[in-house]
Amino acid sequence: MTLKIGVIGTGMIGRDHTRRIQQVLAGAKVVALSDYSIDAAKAVQADLAPDATVYETGEELISANTVDAVLVCSTGSTHEQYVLAAIEAGKPVFCEKPLATTAEGAKRIVDAEVAAGKRLVQVGFMRRYDSGYVALKEAVVSKTGTPIMVHAAHRNPTVPEQYVTPMAIHDTFVHEIDVFRWLLDDDYVSARVTFPRTCEASHAKLRDPQIVTLTTAKGVVINTEIYVNCKYGYDIQCQVVGEEGIAHLPDPQAITLRLAASKQSEILTDWKDRFVDSYDVELQDFIKAASDGTAAGPTSWDGYMAAVTCDACVEAQDADGDAVTITNPARPALYS
Ligand code: NAP
Repeated sequence: MTLKIGVIGTGMIGRDHTRRIQQVLAGAKVVALSDYSIDAAKAVQADLAPDATVYETGEELISANTVDAVLVCSTGSTHEQYVLAAIEAGKPVFCEKPLATTAEGAKRIVDAEVAAGKRLVQVGFMRRYDSGYVALKEAVVSKTGTPIMVHAAHRNPTVPEQYVTPMAIHDTFVHEIDVFRWLLDDDYVSARVTFPRTCEASHAKLRDPQIVTLTTAKGVVINTEIYVNCKYGYDIQCQVVGEEGIAHLPDPQAITLRLAASKQSEILTDWKDRFVDSYDVELQDFIKAASDGTAAGPTSWDGYMAAVTCDACVEAQDADGDAVTITNPARPALYS
């Protein structure tokens, strides 16, 4: 069976996922496209999916009889309405992060999916599918003993002028928030943010860098440096300290040069290159589960918990270094 997919939002990631489905992955094809800008949808149709129908609205696409499953790749503020419509239609839906822009919105999706009685939603937290994080989790589970601390860094060379302090949480740190919950099989109980002096490359509305400290229910303390004007490259670091040893996230493969009296290896500069393989694996996982009428991978609950944690971290940015408590609601059986 070939899964017939409709893609809502044909900007950067919607176009890339369409390419993936049409040219890289097995078991699916894109039969429908929709975007706020009809020209953007038509351009993707012309370049990648000539047989697809272009719909004026996402709702029309979701209800089309020809569409088995939906990808929501539109602007974040529109995700909730489309995911709710897909659940209502009983169709599996892959939603790019964020699941919703508020914790209340993410909770409404959880409630709708629970009422539907089966998993239909996969959230696009692709780091869980990265081979480096998968290997790190294997080491944490079977080799380095019970985790005690995590030291991590999320560094970008630069960000645009419109990137402001809360975006370091919602747009950047959200990936760590999800992947550490998965890595440690744990939930967060508090968040604290401290700011060193702001770097000279930053601007008036961005305090950069910042250090976020999350404490988990099992007592693990996670320190993450978020530094989005680091200049030298896109660099994701993670070290888990356990009772028996320490596990490091591997750096992307790069040759080492011994040259001109120095030892050098290249560092990536574009985030799209860092996790490119994991996007393929996550969407193939979606196609496999959606072909059986269900969903796999990161759940609505994970999307909801990420939203709750983001809110606490943003509150902590204004708390002068004080810890903000994170309350974890009871997890429905659907996500156990
Ligand atoms: P983008 O290039 O701006 O594309 C979003 C597209 O959605 C635009 O074409 C936009 O049209 C369209 N749109 C806006 N409102 C719409 C609506 N109501 N219905 C249908 N389409 C609508 O953004 P992007 O970079 O692709 O990001 C899209 C989403 O993916 C974001 O939520 C982002 O956070 C997420 N994302 C995730 C990752 C990841 O690593 N997992 C990476 C990149 C992006 P207009 O331009 O005309 O408004």
